[in-house]
Order: sequence, then C-alpha cells, then structure tokens
Amino acid sequence: MKPRIPYAPDLRTLSMITTNSTIFINVFVLFPKMLIDIHCHLDHDYFNDLDKVIANAKGAGLKVILTAGINLETNRKVLELAEKYDIVKASLGIYPIQYDNNYGNNEKNNSNNKLNIDEEIKFIEKNKNKIMAIGEVGLDYSEGKDSEQKKTFEKMISLAEKLDKPIIVHSRKAEADCVEILESSKLKKIIMHCFCGKKSLVKKIIDNGWFLTIPTNIVRSQQFQFTAKEAPITQLFCETDAPYLSPFKDKRNEPAFVLEAYKKLAEIKGMELKEVVNNVWMNWQKTFQ
Ligand SMILES: [Zn+2]
Repeated sequence: MKPRIPYAPDLRTLSMITTNSTIFINVFVLFPKMLIDIHCHLDHDYFNDLDKVIANAKGAGLKVILTAGINLETNRKVLELAEKYDIVKASLGIYPIQYDNNYGNNEKNNSNNKLNIDEEIKFIEKNKNKIMAIGEVGLDYSEGKDSEQKKTFEKMISLAEKLDKPIIVHSRKAEADCVEILESSKLKKIIMHCFCGKKSLVKKIIDNGWFLTIPTNIVRSQQFQFTAKEAPITQLFCETDAPYLSPFKDKRNEPAFVLEAYKKLAEIKGMELKEVVNNVWMNWQKTFQ
C-alpha cells in the first residue's frame, strides 16, 4: 500500500525547527511528517512540559505518537492526551505488575487493594473507538513469577481479539512464556515492544509474522542492533519508550528522538533513511488503518 500523504518536504514545519533541533534539519528535507513513535509514556511525571514536547515532535517530522496506559490512572490520562493533541494516539492496557495499585484509596472497589481487572476491561471496551491498540500488556517476572499475571495477560489478549485491535506486548524475564501464550491466541497484529529475549525467540517472532520494535537506545544496544539486522523492514516499528531509553546520555527521552532509531536502522539495513521511513509508515498503515 502506498503512503497516502504526498511525498514532499513540509517547509512550514522546517521553519519551526529551532537551533536545539539542528540534528533534524539534514534529514527533514528528505521526507515529510511520517515518523511514528509506536510506544511511549507521555503521561509520565517527567513530562511537565508537554506542549513543548509535542512541538518538538512535530518539528522532527512525527505524524503519530502512540502513548500507552498501564493502569487505571494512566489509561484515563492517555485518553485525555489523545483528545488534546492531534498527533497523539491512545493505547490502553494493564501492565502485569500494575494490577495491585490505584484502587487502594477507593473502598467501594476491591477489598484486596487490587485493580478490578474486569471493570477496567469494561472501561477499555467502552472507549474502543478512541484507541488504536491494546497495550502495554504482557508478563514481567522481574519481581518474581505469579499466576495472576498470566490470567491478566490472557484477558488482555481476549480483549484485543474481541475489539480486533493490535496488541503491544512487553515481556521482561518472561519472553518464552509470552511468546508461547501469544502463539496459542488468534491474534495476528502483535507488536513485541523492546523485546530482549534470546536470538532464537527473536527469530521465532519473525517467523510468526509479528512486529518487533527498535527503541532509541539501539544506538548502544547490541540486542536491538541484532533485531534490526535480523527482522525484515516489513516487520519493524521504531519507538522511544520515553521518558525511558534515551539515545542521549543523561537526557530524558522524548518522541522527537525517535529519529535516532530510524537513523540507526537505516545504517544497519544499508538503506536510505527515507526508504526506512516509508516502509515503517506502510507497516503502520497495514496494521492500524
Ligand atoms: Zn513502555
């Protein structure tokens, strides 16, 4: 499928670029606003200057920022942000180790101090027309295995199936289990975000036809350089995971920096930057439109 927007530089945006963003100038003349940050957390407390962060992103050529909720509080914040900023799109989910907060101060909900998963699923369903994906969901064994996590993940998978939405999955120290559970689902549009599993699992994901993401810290991460080499361009997205995983040392990450992931990907693939941008845009269209 061809990109819908014309292939020409957007000079109006070019004039908005500040000296702070000179790194973008060279590449910006090569493509219009077609960059995508497929995963970040704009609701995070570190973003107390969101108007500027969004302006920076637009200046850098971003057309889409997909920001992810992980619990009751952030899911609501994500919807507000998507309402407020045109380039921000929403993804809602329950991150595996987040299910036991948020309802703590609200006695009518759950005596166990836990998020009521089924209620939150109803909330997500109610907002299905406002969201692009289910995520961030997955398994996280960094604080130990627990059976609740798998149950929650399975509910999130069923929800994505029911709503026919792509799913954005994080697995931490639980990669093999994550892949196995997803393989037993009917889902086709699966995006493995920041996947750090073994090489054999990366290959399995590619064989399954799922997507992998290239985060901005690829500039120093062998793991993601391997993924960039191994996965076909038709199965890749770029992301910041902002405010985390900055490509610049000691600097908060933000969506504008997603360009660093595109640049490194182009270098590793031996492709022109604009070719990478175009391909990732087509991946977006076939998955989300
Ligand atoms: Zn994340």
